[in-house]
Amino acid sequence: MDLPIYLDNHATTPVDPRVVDAMLPYLREHFGNAASRSHSFGMVANAAVERARGLVAALIGASPKEIIWTSGGTEADNLAIFGVAEACREPGHIVTTNFEHKAVLDPCRYLEKKGWQVTYLPVSREGLVTVAQVEAALQPNTRLVSVMAVNNEIGTVQPFRAIGELCRSRGIPFHSDASQAVGKIPVDVVADHIDLLTIASHKIYGPKGVGALYVRRGRPRLALAPQIHGGGHERGLRSGTLAVPNIVALGKAAELCREELDAGGLAEIARLRDRLWEGLCANIDDCWINGSTEHRSPQNLHVGFKGVESQALMMAMREVAVSSGSACSSANLEASHVMKAIREPDELSDAAIRFGIGRFNTEEQIDYVVGKVTESVARLRALNPLLE
Ligand SMILES: *Cc1c(COP(=O)(O)O)cnc(C)c1O
Repeated sequence: MDLPIYLDNHATTPVDPRVVDAMLPYLREHFGNAASRSHSFGMVANAAVERARGLVAALIGASPKEIIWTSGGTEADNLAIFGVAEACREPGHIVTTNFEHKAVLDPCRYLEKKGWQVTYLPVSREGLVTVAQVEAALQPNTRLVSVMAVNNEIGTVQPFRAIGELCRSRGIPFHSDASQAVGKIPVDVVADHIDLLTIASHKIYGPKGVGALYVRRGRPRLALAPQIHGGGHERGLRSGTLAVPNIVALGKAAELCREELDAGGLAEIARLRDRLWEGLCANIDDCWINGSTEHRSPQNLHVGFKGVESQALMMAMREVAVSSGSACSSANLEASHVMKAIREPDELSDAAIRFGIGRFNTEEQIDYVVGKVTESVARLRALNPLLE
């Protein structure tokens, strides 16, 4: 078995080899500009972009015209939030949660400086918000509700369909950052009453640097102000020459996700995830799962270990690529905003490790990881004088 083992599929996924094959011709012979409709080079590129648009739309139950290409999930979130805000005549109110991705939280914070009011709903210990919380927070001047579909750290699935129904009934646009949901759990923008939905290619086995925002068309009309101007591409909502190879890749990645979902392929990922948890819990005392186990993405396992530090644990098992609930690059090991949202302050010193299982992980790898974590936790606990 090759080491290291990649179990950080929330941070990014490897590019599926079939996706690489699909995009290569658009880096080589089909290099045309999709906006050059006067010759075959441009027409070939444009046809490929439109095919990809159809494939991404099909994954989420949208129509192709509702897909706007972006440079990734972050830009899609920015376009959704600033786009709605800028289309309003005056600053209003936004409802979101306190454990969104920074690509949602930071634009909201920025808008607060511009006179907007933002309600950050607290999530429960289980890592969930309720539709009743959203309803109670609505005001006459609420212009947008933004609640993620699946949290990127603890993998909890929010009640996005019920929130969508509520927002639609009140005529308030509903944005959902579905970067960690699309391709992993069923998402249908029509049935779920979603107006704006964020997709990030590199979370679904496509390349980095490309994503999409679904923008609902039809009645009631959704007003969105473009954030990048310069040529009027993408229905005027996002100018800039299209990244044809990346877009083709995202289309292929979406097609593969749809096939995998239809074939029940996610059940295999959930099985590996459950095998990992059963192994850890059989071998290690005082460990637990952070966040709801019932409302959870199949690929996510987020485990707390008493009496061990995240950084020390990750150092002790360098051949396993995982992530922790702390900002691991910074010198001060502060807990993440997500962990702070679901735990009490005095509980934040215990290790919190995110295991993200993906399409290319195997049972053999999972069993190796169980052994490695077990051994590392035991060694670190033996060194911890507080545990005597
Ligand atoms: C990865 C991610 C993003 C950002 O997407 P990029 O393509 O990396 O910009 C936004 N939201 C969530 C929930 C994510 O997981």
